[in-house]
Amino acid sequence: MFNLRKKNLSRSQVTPRTILMDNPHHEWIREDKLVFRFFKEALELLIETDFLKLNSEKELCFLYSPGRYASTLPSSNKYNFIILYPDMIAQVKSVDNSIALATLFHEFGHLINDHHSDKRSALIKQIEADNFAIKYKFEEELTELLNGENRTFEVVKRLENLQSYLESLSLDQ
Ligand SMILES: [Zn+2]
Repeated sequence: MFNLRKKNLSRSQVTPRTILMDNPHHEWIREDKLVFRFFKEALELLIETDFLKLNSEKELCFLYSPGRYASTLPSSNKYNFIILYPDMIAQVKSVDNSIALATLFHEFGHLINDHHSDKRSALIKQIEADNFAIKYKFEEELTELLNGENRTFEVVKRLENLQSYLESLSLDQ
């Protein structure tokens, strides 16, 4: 109980629901039941330490933009931004939204690892973000997603990383 006092009270009360209900930028999420449920379930999947990391100093903010899939923005003082694109939102509304969840958890991975202030290569950051999604068991969805992409060097390396993880799983059995 003591550490409660050290925390910023308003931050410690952040929940998946308050993120979606209280942020004026989230009107586009609130106006569609399926989209709302998707983000609520995604936020509820986060284990507490990851949820707190994403929402303690700053708060998660989902913005909608024309473009492709999803990305993060250099963060502001107030928010950790994730940009969602029409393709991704179409997946959110589809019967199986697990690919959209995988995409979102990859983006969470960039934020959790502070990749905006990270000078390492884009490939290393992509793989770290994939590994965060893998931690939440989205390896099949990520593989499916990347198999639909052009075989760039980055895509090939990310698929290799996923493949070696999947192989390590089958060795465990
Ligand atoms: Zn990425």
